[in-house]
Amino acid sequence: MTAFPAGVGALTIQQIQDGLRSKQFSAVELASAALQFAEAENSKTNGYLTFCAERALSTARTVDERLAAGNDPGPLAGVPVAVKDVLVTKGVRTTCASRLLANYVPPYDATAVSKLERAGAVILGKTNCDEFAMGSSNENSAFGPVRNPHDPERVPGGSSGGSAAVVAQGTAVASLGSDTGGSIRQPASFCGVTGVTPTYGRVSRYGLVAFASSLDHVGPFARTVHDAAVMLEAIAGRDEMDATSAFAPVPRYTDALDGNVKGLKVGLPREYFEGPSNESREIVLKAVETLRALGCEVREISLPHTRYAIATYYIIATAEASSNLARYDGVRYTSRAKEAGTLSEMYRLTRGEGFGAECKRRIMLGTYVLSHGYYDAYYLKAQRTRALIARDFTQAFGEVDAIVTPVSPFPAFRLGEKLDDPMEMYLSDVYTITGDLAGIPCMSVPCGETASGLPVGMQVLAKHFDEAGMFRLAHAYERARGMK
Ligand code: GLN
Repeated sequence: MTAFPAGVGALTIQQIQDGLRSKQFSAVELASAALQFAEAENSKTNGYLTFCAERALSTARTVDERLAAGNDPGPLAGVPVAVKDVLVTKGVRTTCASRLLANYVPPYDATAVSKLERAGAVILGKTNCDEFAMGSSNENSAFGPVRNPHDPERVPGGSSGGSAAVVAQGTAVASLGSDTGGSIRQPASFCGVTGVTPTYGRVSRYGLVAFASSLDHVGPFARTVHDAAVMLEAIAGRDEMDATSAFAPVPRYTDALDGNVKGLKVGLPREYFEGPSNESREIVLKAVETLRALGCEVREISLPHTRYAIATYYIIATAEASSNLARYDGVRYTSRAKEAGTLSEMYRLTRGEGFGAECKRRIMLGTYVLSHGYYDAYYLKAQRTRALIARDFTQAFGEVDAIVTPVSPFPAFRLGEKLDDPMEMYLSDVYTITGDLAGIPCMSVPCGETASGLPVGMQVLAKHFDEAGMFRLAHAYERARGMK
């Protein structure tokens, strides 16, 4: 530990590459220290559900061997990372934070996971989240909530709360999360780290346990934009195991981090800045002034269908979830209710005992909107509205290069504060779900703190497959903010 006094998480990816090459430490030493630190600190946040020391040390050994042989160990060589527990990991239990999957050990790796390891990353463990990624606070985990490293009485955001918390806490250098309606950006904002939701199809979903397949994205968390860009580059690209993964070539994202944003047109959608003022929005507006000072041309735009986004999302997401969750029937994957006498009783008892309240709520809602007689009124209508929301963005990107908004209307709230009011909880996603519905790349970059010291993130959205442009803007901002 002594070699890494502030915790290994304080290191950047570049510092780790330099340290390994100059033999300040080996990958195995770094991995051991990282594991020891993460295990010792975990009770503070409950961010990790499972550690995989053996696997971590074996990857680290491979990195050391490659270095010793003079071979390239990969762009993430030796970097201690964490993976949200909705991405399957061969031989390492994958729970989706559900009682149903408490003992599920997958026989294969998600593509994003194997790509990380191929790039040299060392996976320390699996992170806590809302059950099947459904939630905005990480309180829907069957294994207890995650606590925000900035204030243990507050939530880290959700559903990828564990992946955000471990990066903020310094018990991982970077991590993977999933985002269906905001689950990477909102916790990134609440925990003061960078979180990226790439274009739909940019990163393979193979091995990501499905929540709402047309909205699910895999993406990285990191402490800097640079590190997030390196992570995304490692996991992006076409994968023949996922038919929806895109053929689009993956650029070198780090090449875009040149600080050159002069003349860039940035749109502020009127609909995201309406209503009574709040502290988070004021902080984002200050960040917009920094963008202006950097030479960006800021203008107001309109995304007129924004107000239908929450209703649209909660119809489509629950419809898809009700179908995807049908596979947990006590026959495959999961534990099985013991005292069932008949097959249908076995299904009913297994699912009744296994799913938490939020999953049940969504299965019921989703089944209802898909049912005969309601399909056209709800599901089909929601699909049409989704197309209008996506068209708003296409039109806006005819005028501007990037869009900037708040990530959430409020900073991290107290544990329990919104638990009894699902509608209030759903409002957490008001600014993030549009990006998922449109399938465009979007990210949260830290942009300040409230008077009580809670982090606030700024959302940057870009056109399909323009992650490079999005990173360029976020990085220029991050640098300017650091210099102030
Ligand atoms: N908070 C949203 C929900 O509960 C989004 C979740 C997510 O992005 N996975 O559905």
